[in-house]
Amino acid sequence: MSKKRVYRFSEGNAQMRELLGGKGANLSEMRSMGLPVPPGFIITTEACIKYYEEGRVISPELEKEVEDALSALEEEMGRKFGDYDNPLLLSVRSGAVVSMPGMMDTVLNLGLNEDTVEGLARRVGDRRFALDCYRRFIQMYGDVVLKVEYNFDDIIEEEKEKRGVSTDVELDEDALQVIIDRFKEVIEKETGEPFPKDPKEQLLKAIRAVFDSWYTPRAQVYRNANNIAHDLGTAVNVQTMVFGNMGDNSGTGVVFTRSPSTGENKLYGEYLINAQGEDVVAGIRTPEDIEKLKEVKPHIYDELTENCRKLESHYKDMQDVEFTIEEGKLYLLQTRNGKRAAAASVKIAVDMAREGIINREEAIMRVKPEELEQLMHRQIDESAKIDPVATGLPASPGAACGKAVFDADTAEQMANEGHEVVLVRTETTPEDIHGMIASEGILTSRGGMTSHAAVVARGMGKPCVTGCEAIKVNTEQEKFEVDGKTVSKGDKITLDGATGNVILGEVPMRDPEISGDFQDILQWADSVREMNVRTNADTPEDSRQAVELGAEGIGLCRTEHMFFAGDRLPVVQDMILAENAEDRKAALDKLLPYQKEDFKGIFKEMAGYPVTIRLLDPPLHEFLPDREELLQELIELRQKGESQELKEKEELWAKVKALNELNPMLGHRGCRLGVVYPEIYEMQVRAIMEAGAELVKEGMEANKIIPEIMIPLVGHERELEILREMTQKVVDQVKEEKGVDIPQLIGTMIELPRACVTADTIAKHADFFSFGTNDLTQTTFGFSRDDAEGKFLQQYMDQNILEQNPFIEVDQDGVGDLVRVAAEKSRDAKPEIKLGVCGEHGGDPSSINFFYKQGLDYVSCSPFRVPVARLSAAQAKLKSGGTSYEQKGES
Ligand code: ADP
Ligand code: MG
Ligand code: MG
Repeated sequence: MSKKRVYRFSEGNAQMRELLGGKGANLSEMRSMGLPVPPGFIITTEACIKYYEEGRVISPELEKEVEDALSALEEEMGRKFGDYDNPLLLSVRSGAVVSMPGMMDTVLNLGLNEDTVEGLARRVGDRRFALDCYRRFIQMYGDVVLKVEYNFDDIIEEEKEKRGVSTDVELDEDALQVIIDRFKEVIEKETGEPFPKDPKEQLLKAIRAVFDSWYTPRAQVYRNANNIAHDLGTAVNVQTMVFGNMGDNSGTGVVFTRSPSTGENKLYGEYLINAQGEDVVAGIRTPEDIEKLKEVKPHIYDELTENCRKLESHYKDMQDVEFTIEEGKLYLLQTRNGKRAAAASVKIAVDMAREGIINREEAIMRVKPEELEQLMHRQIDESAKIDPVATGLPASPGAACGKAVFDADTAEQMANEGHEVVLVRTETTPEDIHGMIASEGILTSRGGMTSHAAVVARGMGKPCVTGCEAIKVNTEQEKFEVDGKTVSKGDKITLDGATGNVILGEVPMRDPEISGDFQDILQWADSVREMNVRTNADTPEDSRQAVELGAEGIGLCRTEHMFFAGDRLPVVQDMILAENAEDRKAALDKLLPYQKEDFKGIFKEMAGYPVTIRLLDPPLHEFLPDREELLQELIELRQKGESQELKEKEELWAKVKALNELNPMLGHRGCRLGVVYPEIYEMQVRAIMEAGAELVKEGMEANKIIPEIMIPLVGHERELEILREMTQKVVDQVKEEKGVDIPQLIGTMIELPRACVTADTIAKHADFFSFGTNDLTQTTFGFSRDDAEGKFLQQYMDQNILEQNPFIEVDQDGVGDLVRVAAEKSRDAKPEIKLGVCGEHGGDPSSINFFYKQGLDYVSCSPFRVPVARLSAAQAKLKSGGTSYEQKGES
């Protein structure tokens, strides 16, 4: 096979990431953009796969190609690898197709030995520097390639202590020489061989080590967690070293081209003077804010800014850039699309569209629906007087209030008991994840904006304050001290992740509102989408909120919630306990005014929008007392002897027993109630129509009141035929009595498989169908949701019987296909029929995409999911071919 396994940077480009890995592809791209990238070459991912196929050996062909590329590099650099006078030094870096930050290995300063180190010293005229490189090389090579398990930093610490210095840069030549000798001793003792001198051997072994690092346990765990295939392999980048450790005019750092936390359009990052890359990560010295570079090295800062700008307009996205400064000259060592918090994601998309870097459709596709969901956080009410007791770094926006807890297990345990908690730690580690998930927010006394707590919290969309040094955390005693006060486990605290403020006790919060960039992106989405977004709401308050969030009507108003409300339940119970239709009517007459008021409130909030009202759905026993409690009371009363109370309880008990069902989900509910007790539905229809008529009398325009009366759980066309006739009769009666005509529709909820397959016949009697996909999922699978989620659904997902929870993401093959069949059949029978979805799936992005493809007219979801649904509906349209845009992968 004559396939090319090694590419010089000058031969690659960003499109070749599958072959060259993300890092190599982007280094090549930057080079061709004319940006300052140290020259090098890339060994392909295919070579890595072959390496594994051949039993972890580097083939002679590959070795030859590496030698050729190395010769070309030597020529380009005018230096020779292993040369005594002017040695070329290399970095050997991993580079996966999908970024796996920190998961694989890198070796820097490769090519040094006791001869070349003196050559480097002579060339640069700085022996201390050369020794610093050498000790770094031995340390990294010992760790990564020779796999010596020894903490080399301990030796450095010992030597620093001996000499009474506190930082690495204060170690002189003598000290470094001692450290180097001690490192070599350790390695010889641990491996039984002296440290390898031959640069060629060093290079081949480093390449092997990088290939091997693809299968380290941590890399495998990371791939499993992030759904990355295990057979992709890693590329290896071999690159000329540039030196950030050449003194005070050198350094190394990382910048984001915009803030990954807020999206603000300015450089955001950290750097270290006189250091190499691994120092920043290792946290040996505290890095400086990139703003400082602007003061101390304005030219470099300007050049960096200019390069970042070029990168952004080239990649059309915010970049995460690694750089090194060698003696005042800037080099770029890596670029990739930067990870960001939800708020930043929205701002960056909107700003970039405004700046003309991307268009509006691209901006819509950039924002992930989950990110909007995260933005629906509560905030501290601006009008509240707050008195922060300390201020840390604003690491992840949103406000959180909860009981202070000091370890992850306690956080989880208290959250399970129903408490809202805030996790307080000096700093967090990966072992704290479960506690972070369980908490409302996270507070740490140490760590910066890029610390573990900050990064993880931003990813989860949880409010977080880091580096709050004013608080003294005592994890053992489960308390912290601040400003002379003590906060113990269980005490309430409030965090504001947008300002970094920490407040003792509770603070008034307000619900999120949509403004600024958030508003813009949603309006752009509205102008693209074809599907309407409605809400599921049962009260005027929810309706108002949903309209503010962009709802265009109600897709499901559940009338039973009105039956449960406070003073109505006794009347409802009278209605249920009634011996005959007459008594039942009397009770219903008492309920009518309540229902009417409820509907009036909702119609007012939804003026001009359709309101789908579902007639009574749950089985009647749900309105009666709990069986077991009742029985207990009864037993106690029976022991006390005859009484009026006992007599009433006995009657109630008899009724409860009579209404008891073996399988309520499949029992006497939905339209089956309407068939047996038509007077209940008659009352509800009357309440709806009278509410409309009264509003018109009060001055509301008749065509702004648009009830859609929905009959639930129809499985057979005759059910709907009968109930539609009954409904229409009441509608006509009220219209005649009141002399008011409002536009209204009569339709049904489709939630049984039989309804789907006979949708053409049912459609004859319906103006609209609303797919109740919650029940449709239950009835299609034959699962009861609560039992499934409590008992076996997790196992089903673990064993890959189901890929995801079908109550969250619609099961496209089964439930979804029933929806497709029903939509087709009903449209064939009645082209003008209105179709929508009112199950929980109406707020799930991938389900929305599916419903769009079936041509449904609207989805309906809970008020807080309305923004997510608006965006998802627009993305569904764009994905269906509305744009040529394709989401770029992360590098
Ligand atoms: P990771 O994928 O874990 O970020 P990298 O391959 O990017 O690993 O290497 C880590 C760091 O090593 C870089 O950020 C950079 O500071 C340093 N580094 C890598 N290559 C070079 C080089 N050619 N010259 C100087 N420093 C380098
Ligand atoms: Mg890197
Ligand atoms: Mg239902």
